[in-house]
Amino acid sequence: MSAPTVVVGASLAGLRAVEALRLDGDDTEIVVVGAEAHMPYDRPPLSKKVLTDGDRDPAELTRLEVAADLGVEWRLATAATGLDLDGHRVTLAGGEQLEWGRLVIATGAHARRLPALGDLSRVHVVRTLDDAVALRADLRAGPTSVAIIGAGFIGLEVASSCRDLGVDVTVIEALPVPLERAVGAAMGARIAARHRQCGIKVETGIGVDSLEGVDGVEAVRLADGRLVAADVVVVGVGVSPNVGWLEGSGVDLANGVRCDSRLRVLAGGRPLPDVVAAGDVACWDQPGQLLPVRVEHWTNAVEQGDAAAKTLLRGDEAAPFAPVPYFWSDQLGVKLQMVGRAAPGDDVAMLDDDGTGTKWLVAFGRDGRVVAALGAGRPAKVMKLRRAIDAGDPFPPEV
Ligand SMILES: Cc1cc2nc3c(=O)[nH]c(=O)nc-3n(C[C@H](O)[C@H](O)[C@H](O)COP(=O)(O)OP(=O)(O)OC[C@H]3O[C@@H](n4cnc5c(N)ncnc54)[C@H](O)[C@@H]3O)c2cc1C
Repeated sequence: MSAPTVVVGASLAGLRAVEALRLDGDDTEIVVVGAEAHMPYDRPPLSKKVLTDGDRDPAELTRLEVAADLGVEWRLATAATGLDLDGHRVTLAGGEQLEWGRLVIATGAHARRLPALGDLSRVHVVRTLDDAVALRADLRAGPTSVAIIGAGFIGLEVASSCRDLGVDVTVIEALPVPLERAVGAAMGARIAARHRQCGIKVETGIGVDSLEGVDGVEAVRLADGRLVAADVVVVGVGVSPNVGWLEGSGVDLANGVRCDSRLRVLAGGRPLPDVVAAGDVACWDQPGQLLPVRVEHWTNAVEQGDAAAKTLLRGDEAAPFAPVPYFWSDQLGVKLQMVGRAAPGDDVAMLDDDGTGTKWLVAFGRDGRVVAALGAGRPAKVMKLRRAIDAGDPFPPEV
């Protein structure tokens, strides 16, 4: 009997890869190895409903839709610790060797921490269900003030959730403008302004020096010496791809797992025919992009899981992975949606703005073409612009 397909990472990208294999009629043996004890769940609610919807079971709030009974073996609470490419084996925690015929690497990313800040209690990151449940417990204990370190999407979503809970919130961001790399300076400033309008304090252009407190955290000391009161702190300073288990395996590692345009994993610069990667961990050569790309968003994990499975099934006949990226973020009762990739120096056109801060649409252009769009409360128009970007329509676009 041939060795099973092994999927390392029992989350969104891994699950979608398994579903795509099954939907394509592949009925071979599949083993899914996951470090967490949970069956795959959805992470977006962790910074949103799981924190605010205190009476509902987090497992229910994060349930992922699964296409069918997949007939796979789940090896949960079991991390992969090593990979032998020549021997076609994955080493599991505890030493077991698992043979694979085909391998899907979908180990995602972990939240960065700030070890210099010490280990006081009531200091959190939000990446896993267990993280969110722990933060939720501290938020339900009735804190008076929460500080969020880092004004990225997760930090701003947690800020929004804490504000919905009626807690005094301060967001601290080292850069002068939040989200500048993702949405440009003008839109980053617009999003920060809305948070301030809604009563959230947003301190920008200032670092954190230390956390103060005896047992649990009581305040954040800023680099200029000021103290921000906080009986709960959330650190949202980005994520790093989970590649530690691949060190020394021969897999090319640079900002994640390096892959070719069809998501085949590279080793010594050459694609491995039976090894693919997908999701937050994958850094691939997207046709049309100057540099390899790694994306940390839900839709990318879904689409890549599917594309990586197609590559396993069809090899060179599979299409290169070249989508127009899409993500959303729910903040302060508004759904922000972005398509495409904006870059510094892009032309910016405001296409629509109702003046309330809750409904607006902006497009980004480069060399006369529309390359990205960001909208608040404008879902249909954003999706129309996703198609315009794909088609290479002129800038400014018609909506
Ligand atoms: C709080 C939060 C809110 C978010 N909100 C949004 C949103 O609103 N919109 C949006 O577009 N995106 C959002 N995202 C991003 C989205 O959830 C991720 O892009 C998506 O989860 C990536 O899926 P993945 O399967 O690649 O990786 P992950 O979901 O990180 O899963 C990887 C899995 O692999 C496991 N693993 C790691 N190492 C090993 C190992 N050595 N052995 C075995 N298993 C291992 C991990 O434990 C994990 O379960 C959010 C993410 C978070 C954390």
